Amino acid sequence: MERTSSPAETEAVGARIAADLRPGSVVLVSGELGAGKTTLIRGACRELGVRDPITSPTFTIGHRYRGRVPVSHLDLYRLEGLEGEDPGLLDDYLTEDAVAFVEWPQAAEPRLERVAIRVELRHEGGDERTIEVRRT
Ligand code: ADP
Ligand code: MG
Repeated sequence: MERTSSPAETEAVGARIAADLRPGSVVLVSGELGAGKTTLIRGACRELGVRDPITSPTFTIGHRYRGRVPVSHLDLYRLEGLEGEDPGLLDDYLTEDAVAFVEWPQAAEPRLERVAIRVELRHEGGDERTIEVRRT
């Protein structure tokens, strides 16, 4: 369990996670709104050589960035489940050549393969956060 007191510290946790990833690795990032999921993913993406701005996908299900490896960033907040969705919905993002980060993964979790790491962020008041990183 890690404890951070600033966005920069949470980005640094993300950067450390990135060092362990391989093409095809999927990282699930859970936690409430504002817990710091996107912040942690930003740190990981920077470490992977992504220079684009990293923001939560809002009007689409995901972003695809170019770094030293392709990087996908999904936010499934509005997805209730995969029933009734196009079965290929996530396929363009979860490619074997890419590292993928998934915010709000619950709805898709049964169908997600190659999950390497699960991250859970929690508010602890003010700028304090706890971050649990579990390698699978
Ligand atoms: P999420 O993607 O989980 O909704 P964001 O990363 O978009 O969360 O937002 C987290 C917000 O909390 C940002 O405004 C960030 O500046 C702020 N913040 C304050 N302290 C921290 C911290 N220790 N770690 C991460 N974010 C923090
Ligand atoms: Mg977010």
